[in-house]
Amino acid sequence: MSSPNIDLFKLFQIWNPSFGYNSCVGYAPSKRKRCGWEMYGSSVAKQLKDIGNRLPHVHPTKAELIEVATDALCHHHKRQASDIAMKWKSLIDDTDLEDLSERMRNARMNDDDSNPRFGGSQSMREEAKRKQEEKKRQERAQEEARKRREEEERKRREERAKEYARKEQERKNREAEGERRSWRQAWTRYAEAQEKFKGKKIYSSSGIPWPVKSGLQKDVNEQNVVTFYYNALPGSSASEFYKMMQQECLIWHPDKAKQFIKSLTLTAAEEASMAVIARMVIRLHKEFGGRRTS
Ligand SMILES: [Zn+2]
Repeated sequence: MSSPNIDLFKLFQIWNPSFGYNSCVGYAPSKRKRCGWEMYGSSVAKQLKDIGNRLPHVHPTKAELIEVATDALCHHHKRQASDIAMKWKSLIDDTDLEDLSERMRNARMNDDDSNPRFGGSQSMREEAKRKQEEKKRQERAQEEARKRREEEERKRREERAKEYARKEQERKNREAEGERRSWRQAWTRYAEAQEKFKGKKIYSSSGIPWPVKSGLQKDVNEQNVVTFYYNALPGSSASEFYKMMQQECLIWHPDKAKQFIKSLTLTAAEEASMAVIARMVIRLHKEFGGRRTS
């Protein structure tokens, strides 16, 4: 570990800001202030630098400091060397050198001297390291926060998707229910019309129970007739459907149907529709019969 480069020259205030030069570090009792005697010796600076470089591991002895203090005092105040040395020693021993180094560094920044005297100090490197670690810690925290946000967003999307699927299913159920109801209604209407038809109580072709959802002759075709029976036939088994289609065959067989129509005159289109229905009910009767036995 290298020294924090404590600038003792500054710490001991060899430089006298009141005068703007290095003055004697002694106290002038007659003037009740620091001695203003200008000191030129560069030996003080050198000695303090050497001592500073050994800090904070090796603290100077009092004798060493007395030697320096003697050089930093004018001839009037050399007898204060011991007191000054004691003051310096307690300053060094009591001061948090790391903290001091930091303050020195800051002081240097305010200097006009652009040459860094404390460049690359231990404290600066530790500060840089600390900042680097702090930055990494913040980056990790940000990364974790980002992941949490993404996870929350993903959950919200899932919730929305579930909610959508649930509502969609409800809508389909309602539609399916509506569809079943509309087929039940179609069958009821058909069955009622069929009763009148079988009772020979129809007086126009509009009374014919057309087996399509709309109950209208214009909608009769193979597809619509098959769809009608598939969806509207009451019952739940092929056997039940087979029996019902047997009844349908008895109504729609050309010979039977003619009896119900009696003297009504049908148009060619109506005749064609009757033929389609006859074909389809026979086909469905066979189909349900086959399913029933299989
Ligand atoms: Zn003096």
